[in-house]
Amino acid sequence: MKIPFTDLGPQFREIKGAANRAFGELVKRGDYILGQDVRDFESSFAGFIGTKHALGVNSGTDALFLGLLGLGIGPKDEVIVPTYTYIASAFAITYTGATPVFVDIEEKTFNIDISKIEKAVTSKTRAIMPVHLYGQSADMRPILRIAKKYGLKVIEDAAQAHGAEYHGKKVGCIGDIGAFSFYPTKNLGALGDGGMIVTNDTRLYEKLKKLRDYGRKSKYEHDSMGYNSRLDAVQAIYLNEKLKRLDKWNEKRIQAADIYKKLLKGVGGINLPSEARNNKHIYHVFGIRVKNRDQVLEGLRNCGIEALVHYPVPLHLQDVYKGLGYKQGDFPVAEQVSREIISLPIYPHIKRSQLEYVAKKLKGLVKNG
Ligand SMILES: *Cc1c(COP(=O)(O)O)cnc(C)c1O
Repeated sequence: MKIPFTDLGPQFREIKGAANRAFGELVKRGDYILGQDVRDFESSFAGFIGTKHALGVNSGTDALFLGLLGLGIGPKDEVIVPTYTYIASAFAITYTGATPVFVDIEEKTFNIDISKIEKAVTSKTRAIMPVHLYGQSADMRPILRIAKKYGLKVIEDAAQAHGAEYHGKKVGCIGDIGAFSFYPTKNLGALGDGGMIVTNDTRLYEKLKKLRDYGRKSKYEHDSMGYNSRLDAVQAIYLNEKLKRLDKWNEKRIQAADIYKKLLKGVGGINLPSEARNNKHIYHVFGIRVKNRDQVLEGLRNCGIEALVHYPVPLHLQDVYKGLGYKQGDFPVAEQVSREIISLPIYPHIKRSQLEYVAKKLKGLVKNG
């Protein structure tokens, strides 16, 4: 049996009728840049997350980068970020001229270890960037408390967590800014690149609007620095149709995760993902830990199962950040997780028989104890 890591085909088939019609309308109107479709999607996305504003941008990376600029982050500043995340979280900080300051993660949720944040705060710290890794919210209450105590901004990297909840609130609307990615394989994915910034702060929103569109005051008058970072109308159309089905698709991921958990419960040598209390995990990634990771990975691949590793190298050990002076052993939890983690195939339309096949093969491959 061949089991891909993800399969976007069935999602597209569900939306293509309505989306292709809207695409036909777009071509007739011709408002390709920041037109009706982008406004419609921004307003439905803001409604979905529960923020006053949503602003479509080029990518999740740009959502973080422009978000940081909007918060006034720049050279000589420091931003606290977990070391165990995708490189874009830290790159967005570096692009502004600020320095990422890494913090270890907690073993159970793979999210930033809130007990280690305060030790990383210095006189230069300006913001904390929690990452809702794999689709599960970081523990935001203590993060907000620390931010308040030291006068820091909070920018949520919600690139993997469209629809995840923390104490009944959607992630993205908890900090000052939420940043989302619509990279095709994300829970809400475009047919290319795309991203979104959400916020309740109207002044910040106005500033971000200029940042994404050349600092425009009017068509050819520019009163501030800005970039070309706009969400395409074409992407907005397909995303808007997908958004209508996102809750349903997230539920299906949760069901698939439940099936994996039932099938793998109590199997020696496998550490299953756990959900913190008051969290709705939307399983962008179903990450398990095994001791003989590389062997298991190869074994799964030999059975036609496409498993991946998110992520094999924590950011403090990436060559690109050598200059920051971190070393092996600085963040032991992230280092151990990066040696043991495997992401199993998961997507809304995965079948029970496929989940059973993965579980069966996996059981035969893990080293017990
Ligand atoms: C995908 C991702 C990003 C970057 O999003 P792009 O749209 O690919 O630029 C940032 N942070 C995390 C945690 C991600 O998973």
